[in-house]
Amino acid sequence: MLKHSLFAKSFATIVASLSLWVAVLYLSSVPFVNELSFNIEEKAGRTILENVFQLVKQGEQDLRSWEQLAMKARKRELRNITQVAAGYIKALQKDVASGMLTRDQAQQQALRHIRSFQYGNSDYVWVSNYDSVLISHPDPQLFNKDFSRVRDIDDKLIVPPMVAGARKHGEGFHTYNWHRLGDSKAIEKLTYYRDLPDWQWVIGTGVYTDDIVEEVARRKQQFIENLRNHLRHTPVATTGYIYIFDSNMNMIIHPNANIENTNVEKLLNPVTRQSIAQELIAAANNSNNELHYKWDKPSDPGHYIYDKISWIKYFPPFDWYIVSSVYTEELERGGKALTQRLLLLSLAGLVLSIGIAWIFVRAFITPIRRLATTAESISQGDLSHKTSLNRQDELGTLGEAFNVMVDKLKDQIDLLEHRVAERTVELTNWVTQLENRNREIAIFNSMSEWLLACRNETEAYSVLEQATRKLFPGQGGQILMLANDGQSLAIVRSWNMDRPAKGENLEFDDCLALRRGSMHWTEHPGQGLDCRHLPEDLKAAYLCVPITASGDIMGVLHIEFTAPEKLQTHKSTRDFKRFAGSLAEQVALTITNLRLREQLQQQSIRDPLTNLYNRRYLEESLPREEQRARRTGSSVAVIMLDVDHFKQVNDKYGHITGDELLKQLGILLQQNTRGEDIACRYGGEEFILILPNTSLSDARKRAEAIRSLVEAQIRVQKNDRAMDITISAGVAAFPENAQSLEAVLQAADSALYQAKEQGRNRVVTASLEA
Ligand code: GH3
Ligand code: MG
Ligand code: MG
Repeated sequence: MLKHSLFAKSFATIVASLSLWVAVLYLSSVPFVNELSFNIEEKAGRTILENVFQLVKQGEQDLRSWEQLAMKARKRELRNITQVAAGYIKALQKDVASGMLTRDQAQQQALRHIRSFQYGNSDYVWVSNYDSVLISHPDPQLFNKDFSRVRDIDDKLIVPPMVAGARKHGEGFHTYNWHRLGDSKAIEKLTYYRDLPDWQWVIGTGVYTDDIVEEVARRKQQFIENLRNHLRHTPVATTGYIYIFDSNMNMIIHPNANIENTNVEKLLNPVTRQSIAQELIAAANNSNNELHYKWDKPSDPGHYIYDKISWIKYFPPFDWYIVSSVYTEELERGGKALTQRLLLLSLAGLVLSIGIAWIFVRAFITPIRRLATTAESISQGDLSHKTSLNRQDELGTLGEAFNVMVDKLKDQIDLLEHRVAERTVELTNWVTQLENRNREIAIFNSMSEWLLACRNETEAYSVLEQATRKLFPGQGGQILMLANDGQSLAIVRSWNMDRPAKGENLEFDDCLALRRGSMHWTEHPGQGLDCRHLPEDLKAAYLCVPITASGDIMGVLHIEFTAPEKLQTHKSTRDFKRFAGSLAEQVALTITNLRLREQLQQQSIRDPLTNLYNRRYLEESLPREEQRARRTGSSVAVIMLDVDHFKQVNDKYGHITGDELLKQLGILLQQNTRGEDIACRYGGEEFILILPNTSLSDARKRAEAIRSLVEAQIRVQKNDRAMDITISAGVAAFPENAQSLEAVLQAADSALYQAKEQGRNRVVTASLEA
């Protein structure tokens, strides 16, 4: 099962990156936004304070300009009135100059006239001499009063400064506190004075300015009222406000009407236990004119746990402390709202980005996953899968390329498989061939070993049959050997033949292989010349291989392919011929060897004249026969024979005839002995017969039989001269006569001697000794 790890990994990576990015963005922005928002709010608070300050400044300036204008008008009025009085005096002085009046008259007239002159709100013109004595004044208490030492309530001299000013500058204004006529209350009075040097007088008039002061106060009150109204509608932040108190800590403007116009000196900072107003005054002189403290809230009165911040500005002309006060929390509120919005936006952005990432990654990963699934199927050996990405982009191209690649791979694999199959068949054949070859070699080796162990030709034929059967399993076969005459052909072995062997009267010429001296192969018998040792209706293919060695033809190996299906592998004719040829060759060599060996052996143990065993063979055989008799508990008889008067034969008929006689005797003896008997020429005309499993009496009978046969059949004749031949024999047996064959032989010899002694042509049995 394909794991969807790529999608999960990509998506998780993008989500993690986005989340990290948003988190970093958010976390780095929050303090910045908070600070920025706080600063903006703080600045707003300060700006409001500054605006109010400017408003107050403007109001103060307005008040002052109005006051100055009013005072200017008053001064002009005073000057004009004084001018009128001075004009009158100047006119009187002219009269004095023209002689119409005396100086004194004129002065009296002037003073009298001016004293009665009144205008406005009981206002008047006064005249002082240079000694500050009021020589004209409407108030009878002050008339002719010396004012050189009189001071006002502020302890200021009143008249002397004016006299001095007039004499120095000609005119001027002076302000002092005085009471109205008929009134005891001192109020500020503005006085214009003018020097009249001719008479050394100073003339002046004054006016009380309390109305201006009152007006200014009224206007200021009006301004405060307006400002209060204005400030009530000017919040700082949300619930922050502006309030104003003076240096005496009297509350001038405050949104809380209860506090307004009260002294707030006793209002304490709950933390420092100091007057909050005094702390604010102190803060006004700070570089940042700012104060932080804990305060309560209108919604939670009496709990002084809320952080508050106040900015303070001092306005000296009014002696006002203007305070802008706000809860710190409110300054932070904007930042908090903004960061909340930021968080909301970030989360929304994150969700949106994750959604887009999901769609994008899905759109990107799905074809890759399809490719991976296909690749996995292909890796598991299923090359029939195709990517089927119907896209016009790079992934489509990739899928297309992948398909082409898979097709090529498939072709390559098919080709490879085909080649491997071919090669496998080749290898299998090769291996089979090798195995067969091995088998054949093994068979050949085995056959060679067995052939080496063979003691006679019959065994060699058996070995050849077994080898041929193994090499050509299920196939029929025969071994035909030529007789000693080199003409007649005898079947010595026959196997897997489902027909009776046609073994009668076969001859050399009956086999084409023998005739031609080389192998004869016929695949379809009946279509040409065939061997005659076969039935005429033979259907099977056959092969005849001559068994020859060193040019000597000994026989033929005949194979009939009656059951070709049993041949383990397909063998070509050439192979058949090669195998069969090798087998025949091997066997031929063995047979040659065997024959050669037999010949040599015969030559070493046979007497060449009579072809009987020689004396050496006898001596070798005696211990063997004795042992066998002892082992089996049987007896062994010995007959010793000697030709009577053989010397005469030689003498009368010659040695050749003597030899001829010996040869005949050999044949007779051979014909009258059993296979297990040993007929031996002991020397000259002496013969010994060793008869195993024969008792003494049986041996005697045999000896007698042979004696009578010789007597009856053997004779020599030359020209007209004939001579009957007889033999004498001594018989002894083991264990009757002696405990060793050697001794038995001596006993037989003694018996023979006795036979000669007794007249020849007789058989004597060795006497049984106790
Ligand atoms: P007896 O009856 O006592 O046996 O007399 P005998 O003549 O047969 O015996 P003897 O031992 O006197 O003579 C044996 C002769 O046989 C002597 C020898 O010349 C002859 N002889 C031995 N070997 C051969 C042989 O191989 N060929 C021929 N022709 N004569 C042989
Ligand atoms: Mg003799
Ligand atoms: Mg003799």
